[in-house]
Formats: sequence, C-alpha cells, structure tokens
Amino acid sequence: MKQQKQHWYNYLWIWSVIYFAMGFFHILFAWLGLISFFLPLAFAIGKGSKGFCNRYCDRGQLLRMLGSQKGFSRKKDMPEWMKGKFFRYGFMLFFLAMFGNMLFGTYQVFHGVANLREVVTLFWTFDVPWQFAYGGATEPWVAQFAFGFYSLMLTSAILGILTMLFYKPRSWCVYCPMGTMTQLICKAKAGR
Ligand code: SF4
Repeated sequence: MKQQKQHWYNYLWIWSVIYFAMGFFHILFAWLGLISFFLPLAFAIGKGSKGFCNRYCDRGQLLRMLGSQKGFSRKKDMPEWMKGKFFRYGFMLFFLAMFGNMLFGTYQVFHGVANLREVVTLFWTFDVPWQFAYGGATEPWVAQFAFGFYSLMLTSAILGILTMLFYKPRSWCVYCPMGTMTQLICKAKAGR
C-alpha cells in the first residue's frame, strides 16, 4: 500500500497529548487550550478558509493518526442524521450554551457568590475530583475557568475518540462545533 507523505504538521497531535498531560498535573495549563479555540476562528476570519482544520489542528491530526495510521477506527460511515444540519448546528448551539454556562460559573466565583469547584466535569454531568492538580496558587476565578475549560476540552476529546472508533477516523470533524463555526464564517465571507 502506498505510504502517505508525512509533513511536520502531521505531528501536531503531540500537542493534544501534551495539553491533556499538563492539565492532569496542573489545571492552570488548561488556559493554553484557548489557542486551539481561537486559531480555527482566526484562520477562517483572516483567510476565509478551513486551512487550520485541513492541516494544523492537533485534534484532527490525533484522530487521523489513531484512526488511519494506528488502525483503531472501524472506518464505517456515520449515520446520515449526524451529518445533517439539524444535528451539527444543534450540537454547536448546545456547546456554545455550555461554554456560556462555564463562563457564568467563572463570573460567579470572581464575584464571590460561588465557591471554586475543583472538579473536571465530563459530559456536562459527571464530576471527577481533580483537586490534586491545583495547589491554590492563583485567584479562584482563574482556576475555575481552567477547571471548566479543561472539562469542555476533555469531554470533546473523548467524544472525538469515540466517534473515531465507531466511524471514520475524522468523523468528529463533521460535527465539531469549531469546524461548524469556521464553516459558517467561510460561507459568510464567500457571500453564500
Ligand atoms: S473540525 Fe474541529 S477537530 Fe476537526 S480539524 Fe477542525 S477544529 Fe479540529
């Protein structure tokens, strides 16, 4: 079988591994995830293209590496409903609502009306104790944002990996909220 040519950006998956490992040892590293959050949007706004998704996204590269190179993916087609606008836009709105909720939680801690919760919440439901990764070294709201943002990043990474296992390697990219947002920006820029 013909080997796919490897480029430097094919190894950006390493950043995903480093990011989650750093957040395991110290939650404040979760703030670095904002890079992955804003870069796709900046690319789409600046260039009007999905260049970031196509080449430079660490998560996209991680799913490609695990699914295609390592063979962990069943490589089946996703159900049609998962590719449809209703699900993709609905998931994006849900994700943005959860992001807003996380910001509201940070705001409450900032104003002292809520206590810092040293947990990582998976699938917006299950609280996993994570106090071992925080030594009280900073303002509580700074830590609250980190716990909340790491929860979103870890939840979406697990969803991405599960989708990779069951369907094609980069099936997560079909309904990734960042991908949906960049697609909308590109369409708006192209006047479609
Ligand atoms: S769709 Fe999401 S996970 Fe996929 S490459 Fe784009 S930003 Fe990365």
